[in-house]
Amino acid sequence: MKAPRTTPEITLVGAGLAGSLLAVFLARRGHRVTLLERRLDPRKTGAGGGRSINLALANRGIAALEEVGVMERVRSQLIPMAGRMLHDEDGRLKLIPYGNKPHEVISSVSRSGLNALLLDAAEATGRVAIRFGETVTGVDFARRQVLPQGASYDVLIGTDGSASAVRAAILARTGGRLDEEPLGHGYKELSIPPTEAGGFRMEKNALHIWPRGEYMLIALPNTDGSFTVTLFLPQRGAESFEALTTPDAVRALFARRFADAIPLLPRLTEDFFANPTGHLETIRCAPWFFEDHALVLGDAAHAIVPFHGQGMNAAFEDCSAFDRCLEDADRPWSDVFADFERRRRPNTAAIADMALENYVEMRSTVREPKFQLKKDLAFRLEERHPGRFIPRYSMVMFHTIPYADAQRRGAIQEAILDELTSTATSVDRVDFDRADRLIAERLAPPRG
Ligand code: FAD
Repeated sequence: MKAPRTTPEITLVGAGLAGSLLAVFLARRGHRVTLLERRLDPRKTGAGGGRSINLALANRGIAALEEVGVMERVRSQLIPMAGRMLHDEDGRLKLIPYGNKPHEVISSVSRSGLNALLLDAAEATGRVAIRFGETVTGVDFARRQVLPQGASYDVLIGTDGSASAVRAAILARTGGRLDEEPLGHGYKELSIPPTEAGGFRMEKNALHIWPRGEYMLIALPNTDGSFTVTLFLPQRGAESFEALTTPDAVRALFARRFADAIPLLPRLTEDFFANPTGHLETIRCAPWFFEDHALVLGDAAHAIVPFHGQGMNAAFEDCSAFDRCLEDADRPWSDVFADFERRRRPNTAAIADMALENYVEMRSTVREPKFQLKKDLAFRLEERHPGRFIPRYSMVMFHTIPYADAQRRGAIQEAILDELTSTATSVDRVDFDRADRLIAERLAPPRG
């Protein structure tokens, strides 16, 4: 017989975005939580996570933050981004709105600021102890201890990110499988400083993109007037990180492909050679848990490429989904873990695919007239069929429709858009009676 769930104490490995939020959820359910984090306290050292200085927060993340009552504090740190500001090779600008309604915006937020706020919220519960400077290297399941500290655990949850040590231990113990799919493209962070007066050097309320076919540059605003700029480029090849070995080579690439960004990047070559080149991959693994011992959640279970701006949002949605799995207090931990994996796996698999597809959209498709036509038509169809035809980007970013449903409905909608635009060159030439028929035939109203 499985043991009932009596254990009140939970050990979390990793006090990043998922770990710190999960600690708040667990404390609210009455659990005592110990967080083991390898970094020093970022609130004291001012250190970021070593990765993307800012992130896009959207509805799924916001919904989870609202559930634990921290969203009001987060709100003052946000910069709304209403759409993509495209920079073409001649420096011409074009704004493509993300959504169809004024509130459909995504928001830029500082990773370290958000992490600090969540660490404070976890500590404020009075049930969470955070031990910084503790790197977990493995798990001794027989003794129920984390290594090398030898600290005992009752229940262990790995929120230790894409290189998770807890995941490695679970997979070794269960004979599970790990699939690491490198993107073949890396990233480099650069910075646009504020103006002398502390203002923004470009439109503040947009996510800037310089789409260049095989690669791209993007920029997200920060509250101090600066922008964090990220160059996404193949790792190898003629135009690649491998080829950019000298300041002259970097300057030449920017002069050729991102000329309007050069005056905004006074420290271009210094930043380029001082900052690391980040690696990007999709991680899929199974199982996510071992008996009633341990589970992984967030990037540790399903790291994705960043092009839909959903990794953190998905990790926050995981926390909320895990909390719902705890509703039945009599359920044994092994059942809680199994239920969590069953609910979340199809959805996180869907966002992993959609994130990969979005790279192609951001760096390339977004430039095509057909993209704009389909986007305009999708908005018109959303107005004609509210709650039924919802552009896929909106389903992912502005709704909490399960990711797998968004992917499935998105494919149906894409086929409808393709059919309707196969001959039409503008939205006004689309046959809307036919559109209404196709939607009625193929798209059921969404659930949830
Ligand atoms: P992490 O944030 O990686 O946290 C893991 C924590 O565990 C860290 O604090 C780490 O120090 C600690 N740790 C790791 N190993 C150990 C160990 N062995 N022992 C103890 N502690 C350990 N997502 C979005 O939603 N929107 C975006 O716009 C977005 N942009 C991104 C841009 C880039 C360039 C990248 C790389 C990612 C982006 N993401 C974005 C994804 C997002 O960063 C991740 O999905 C999110 O950080 C996952 O949170 P996590 O807590 O699971 O992992």
